[in-house]
Amino acid sequence: MEIEEDEERRRQRKLEEALEVKSLRRIISAYLNYPEAAEEDVRRYEKSFKKLPPAHKALLPHYPSKFKNLRRCISLNSYFIFTMLQAFEPPLDMSQDVDGCKDPHLENFEHGHCHSEERNASSCQSVSTSGRMCCSNHAQACSQEKSNIMSNPTTEEVKSEQQHEPIFGSGAGEVENKNEIAECCSNDVADSNGNAFSSPHDWLDPSLQLNVPLVDVDKVRCIIRNIVRDWAAEGEKERNQCYKPILEELDAQFPNRSKESPPACLVPGAGLGRLALEISCLGFISQGNEFSYYMMICSSFILNHTETTGQWTIYPWIHSNCNSLSDNDQLRPVLIPDIHPASAGITEGFSMCGGDFVEVYNDSSQIGVWDAVVTCFFIDTAHNIIEYIEIISRILKEGGLVGWQVWINFGPLLYHFADMYGQEDDMSIELSLEDVKKIAFHYGFKLEKEQTIETTYTTNPRSMMQNHYHAAFWTMRKKRTTTT
Ligand code: SAH
Repeated sequence: MEIEEDEERRRQRKLEEALEVKSLRRIISAYLNYPEAAEEDVRRYEKSFKKLPPAHKALLPHYPSKFKNLRRCISLNSYFIFTMLQAFEPPLDMSQDVDGCKDPHLENFEHGHCHSEERNASSCQSVSTSGRMCCSNHAQACSQEKSNIMSNPTTEEVKSEQQHEPIFGSGAGEVENKNEIAECCSNDVADSNGNAFSSPHDWLDPSLQLNVPLVDVDKVRCIIRNIVRDWAAEGEKERNQCYKPILEELDAQFPNRSKESPPACLVPGAGLGRLALEISCLGFISQGNEFSYYMMICSSFILNHTETTGQWTIYPWIHSNCNSLSDNDQLRPVLIPDIHPASAGITEGFSMCGGDFVEVYNDSSQIGVWDAVVTCFFIDTAHNIIEYIEIISRILKEGGLVGWQVWINFGPLLYHFADMYGQEDDMSIELSLEDVKKIAFHYGFKLEKEQTIETTYTTNPRSMMQNHYHAAFWTMRKKRTTTT
């Protein structure tokens, strides 16, 4: 009986790992497909241009050089992406034959599991088709990303904590051939000097690369925009709208925080990690939690592998010709990062924990652990927002000093799973702000401050179109439930 159970568990674990490898391969392939997909766009622009009557073409003599420039920008974006992928150490054996895995359970598992790759991918599609661009929807983590990491950017070490396995290998020093770039796409990718790249990692091998749907490559473009939000000077305005009020509030809530034993702050849905880093620099033991490998691969690279400010140049705005004031605007370079994370003054204990917030923090080991929870553009990523709120309440410390146990939230209620038509297994509880607050009160929160703040999210500051949110910003305190 016991042996059977062990066998069952072992098989389940193998299936989970196979799924995870598949999912991670798909994400890596999406990154690797970026140059080809971008090139395809330029070919389309060229085709349309060629169809112009000669008289009209003559009015746009600069267009051929614009196309050339676009290709140069794509190549430089690709250079950044491949350098990032090279630094990534997959947590799993990427060479295993998951496609050959014909276990009938795998299929059931894929369809039944709550984080199946298929379901998440289609959620992103429905976001796009509903007219809300994937990029303007902040909640766009769309693949099965379940592993957990703890990384410590100060020491460039990535550790596992508690029951969570690390998904990244250790830091920069151990990555071989750091300056080489993977030759991993069907079109030749070269750096700005025309050098071809070669891959030191087997899992970057072109033969293992999948052809992923274009929506996956869109997610890569979204990541590039997220980089601007978190790690470029151009993103400062947006960060001042979103992160600054949170940081000021944390500072005010913990006025006499101790350097010896700093308060602990959790940032679920940490994205590319800037907010979690700023919280760390403010004197908190800060932990970001994030379940998207797209995000984790990128944040780990910037946090752990940056050597200087402005080390990388990317061209985030080349992928759209719409609402552009000038070609120069569209083709402008953005230097990243705007700060050097390792010398930003972080507090010891800064970490990024990969994994689903519900899976990781619903664990009994997390009860009453955190002094503060900060959610920024996160709570509407839930299938069941009530569950998120319940967990946030559970993991906050109980009792203690006034000024502690706070939940600071910033963001809209653009429910991520609201447009998931026809996915029977999925649920999406879409509460109004009024109901969200009622639920929070039920779980022991008291509203201390509330405000509406207007902000953008990963918006091109020079675009003729700017989507604005009227974000809810609140501080809630967890009331004592027991008298001591
Ligand atoms: N806080 C960041 C990112 C907001 S977007 C910012 O303000 O820029 C929401 C983020 O939450 C995405 O990065 C998404 O991948 C992540 N996310 C969504 N559901 C999650 C979950 N269940 N657990 C952990 N992270 C999640």
